[in-house]
Amino acid sequence: MSLLTAEDLAINFGGISALAGVSFAVEPGQVLTIIGPNGAGKTTIFNLLSRIYEPTRGRLVFCDEDITSVPAHEIARRGIARTFQNIELFQHASVLQNLLLGRHAHKRSRFFEELLFLPRVRALELQHREAVETVIDFLDLQPYRDSLIVNLPYGVRKVVEMARALCTQPKLLLLDEPSSGLSVEETEDMAFWIQDIRTLLGITVLMVEHDMTLVSAVSDRVVALNYGRVIASGTAREVQAHPDVVKAYLGGDA
Ligand code: ATP
Repeated sequence: MSLLTAEDLAINFGGISALAGVSFAVEPGQVLTIIGPNGAGKTTIFNLLSRIYEPTRGRLVFCDEDITSVPAHEIARRGIARTFQNIELFQHASVLQNLLLGRHAHKRSRFFEELLFLPRVRALELQHREAVETVIDFLDLQPYRDSLIVNLPYGVRKVVEMARALCTQPKLLLLDEPSSGLSVEETEDMAFWIQDIRTLLGITVLMVEHDMTLVSAVSDRVVALNYGRVIASGTAREVQAHPDVVKAYLGGDA
């Protein structure tokens, strides 16, 4: 059974068809990457999954549940976490504080219990701290633990954003252009992190990415979009060689 299935997703913005019937499936434990030229509809798929947008047609099924109408704030609790193209961290808070906020989706204590700081709440707080420290160790962020985000190099901020998503202990991690703004060396490191997330943590990854070296290094399957439609799917090698992809995206003559 697939972890996530997108069935015939369609959405229009004022007459522009951003997605015109997109279907794909993400298998558990795999990395699926969506590629395509600017405006193809890649980010729109993430925004539908995060429930920021409402599809005009189609269905999203996650862990056998139809999540097409699940409210946005419930999505993280279902086990879907995401990073953004433009990093969305609290700039004047530390790495640790940002990661603790990332655990927010798992908080289940009630206001009065928190006020009284009951034992159950204290135990939960310890759980949050432990989960966050595990992620800090996993992604080698110890040297930056107490640094303010604003003082960190861009490449480290990208890793912190991924760490924040991991702190919710997702089943599915959505990575929106993880290599954007990174140097060649940082992109290579990113490939290792994504492989570790998949193999060591067993987390399934759905990624949007332009860098074909990174795509080829980490993806089990690739889906290529153009004008809101799937034009090819398969392994990275198969998709890169597909004539429609070469024509639409990779800039060659098919
Ligand atoms: P990029 O690689 O540039 O990020 P993309 O493949 O992620 O591109 P989308 O951002 O999903 O593309 O956009 C797909 C189409 O939908 C584009 O024509 C875009 O202008 C349009 N679109 C997306 N979101 C909105 C919105 N909120 N309002 C109007 N049009 C939108």
